[in-house]
Amino acid sequence: MIQFSNIETLPKTSSITIRKFKSLGINTYFDLLNYFPFRYEDYSLISKIKDAQPGETVTVIGEITEGKYQVTQTGLRIQVFKLQDETGEIELGFYNQPYLLRLFKKGLNLSVAGVIEQYGRKLSMKPKEYELTDSGQACLRKQARITFKHVGRIIPIYPEKRGLSSRTIREKVSLVFASATSEVADRLDEMLPKEIISLNNLIEEQTAYRQIHFPESKDAAQKARERLAFDELFTIQLSSHLVKKEWQKEKVGNKFTVGTIHELSLQNFIDNLPFRLTNAQNRVWSEIRTDLLRSVPMNRFLQGEVGSGKTVVAALACYLSYLNGYQSLMMAPTEILAQQHYNTLIKLFKNYELRITKIAGANKIRDLQSVINKSDLIIGTHALLNKRFKKVGLVIIDEQHRFGVSQRAELKNKGLNPHLLTMTATPIPRTVALTLYGELDLSLIDEMPYGRLLVKTYLVPKHKRPSCYDWIKFQISNFKFQIFIVCPFIEESEIETMKSVKAAKKEFENLKTIFSGFKLALLHGKMKSKEKEKIMNDFKNQRTDILVTTPVVEVGVDIPNATVMLIEGAERFGLAQIHQLRGRVGRSDKQSYCFLFTEKEDSGILGRLGMFTKTNDGNKLAEEDLKIRGPGDIYGMRQHGYLDLKIASLSDYQLIERTKKAVEYFEKHYEIEKFGELKKRVEKYRKGKITKD
Ligand code: ADP
Ligand code: MG
Repeated sequence: MIQFSNIETLPKTSSITIRKFKSLGINTYFDLLNYFPFRYEDYSLISKIKDAQPGETVTVIGEITEGKYQVTQTGLRIQVFKLQDETGEIELGFYNQPYLLRLFKKGLNLSVAGVIEQYGRKLSMKPKEYELTDSGQACLRKQARITFKHVGRIIPIYPEKRGLSSRTIREKVSLVFASATSEVADRLDEMLPKEIISLNNLIEEQTAYRQIHFPESKDAAQKARERLAFDELFTIQLSSHLVKKEWQKEKVGNKFTVGTIHELSLQNFIDNLPFRLTNAQNRVWSEIRTDLLRSVPMNRFLQGEVGSGKTVVAALACYLSYLNGYQSLMMAPTEILAQQHYNTLIKLFKNYELRITKIAGANKIRDLQSVINKSDLIIGTHALLNKRFKKVGLVIIDEQHRFGVSQRAELKNKGLNPHLLTMTATPIPRTVALTLYGELDLSLIDEMPYGRLLVKTYLVPKHKRPSCYDWIKFQISNFKFQIFIVCPFIEESEIETMKSVKAAKKEFENLKTIFSGFKLALLHGKMKSKEKEKIMNDFKNQRTDILVTTPVVEVGVDIPNATVMLIEGAERFGLAQIHQLRGRVGRSDKQSYCFLFTEKEDSGILGRLGMFTKTNDGNKLAEEDLKIRGPGDIYGMRQHGYLDLKIASLSDYQLIERTKKAVEYFEKHYEIEKFGELKKRVEKYRKGKITKD
């Protein structure tokens, strides 16, 4: 395929504009074609001036007969023009665009789109877009419509970034289509096999690119969007598919076996647990166990709600690794979580010889390396990977989603090719998981341990807050139960800022007054990890009654004695996120409660939160978020950068299913080597995936 021209060769384009494009990652004509509009304005109704009706959005074409500058009574500067065609005259008032007086010279042909207004008997137009045309008459001919860019048709509206206006982008995109070198016709190769296109009732790629920018109808724009979204999802899924196939060819560095003795040891471990494994835990363990006995490295993604008992399943895997004489690494995103895993695992392996070490960031142990060498299970944050290990058979990663392509490569570079288990409590709709983690095998713990009571959830109206506080005080005084209060100081980006910390501190003071006589502590993301650890430990050891936190703090903390989760400003969170917060209580056999406070009591919010109080199914809530608020609100999804889909939407289940089938079909019938364009895009996507991690 012929290379697309560099964006610098765009005619009639200033170097400033070129620089702006480049800063958006637009380096070629092709990149520009892939900058998609997010909506359209319909200016396709072309009207004679006399026929234009007040309230109508139309395009009129005429000759400029007058232009002048005016200041309105309210002090607005306007530029007023008169436009005439063979049927009549209309007045156009532009606000604050003095340069138009130079541009719109008397006698020129001008096409303007806007809304018709009537003052008395005088017809005027509030102009939205304009275009100077060589001959107004010629443009009326239907076939000539394509020459219109900004008026007389359905026009694309683009996301305006880095000071690039929609109008500029539209102008430049039209230059690409008009380019003498015919960028689109000659260089834009069809990426899919004909059969897949026709089986899926898709339009051709070149048509799709043209119609997404300059559609002939709303319908055509829709078809174009469908085609390009299909391309995108197809590329992503095919790329995961190929990664998976590649991984299938790998061999683990250290192969596991399970003979009768190991079998008995494993069974013994399970029998001696303080509880019975749930069916879901048993099922997932058998999936993992099967993987572990293969020589192909495991790449499994284990999803399970907070409290569903993922750790014990992971422990079983570590135990099998140990029985085979290999080390296991367990990594958590924070030190608190690493510490928690350490505590849990120490307990689980109390009566076993397996040696467990926790490596903290500020570990001062002398001779750390020899401690590591003597350990069977090493727990820490991701910094763990900088250490050297003797014989690693298994790596477990908690709450770090995309431990995938690049990290696997990183491990391999270190001479390790272990089994990999990634775990998350984030509820992710299944279709989404299949799309985003296509290269991984999925396991789901979809059942809570026996005897666990559902958390009772209430939406608390404003006037009932005082009684809610009283009830909480009663719970603490009488039962010594502990309370979480989550404050909503959260920025759009879910990144905690100093501003939100300040707000949290203020709220903390306020709560201290409300709960005077009780012991409160504040935990936020900007604290040093030592400090955080102390506060968590105090809470865990019941030295504090109420822990006030910001929501970004630690997803998986386990405080069985905490029975109340109070969420302020609940409307600001996605449902999946409140669900995760709710999951911090109800981790024992005591009845737990979740209270939602909201400042905004409109019907939409009350409806959404009301529904939340009635559901305990995290995946269902995640689907709901996806429908109402988009994937950004599925907790954690935004931070992990999965949202850079250009045109497809993760909530379009149907299209995800269709493209998945199409990938299977492609795999069966075609060789990617023969599809140059597709191969290129798949590789590009993979590279993006690697660097983004
Ligand atoms: P998560 O999936 O959130 O990591 P954990 O593994 O921390 O959940 O388990 C939460 C709590 O449930 C722990 O205290 C654990 O000991 C307990 N637990 C795990 N499995 C069971 C079970 N089958 N029955 C009863 N309690 C269980
Ligand atoms: Mg956990």
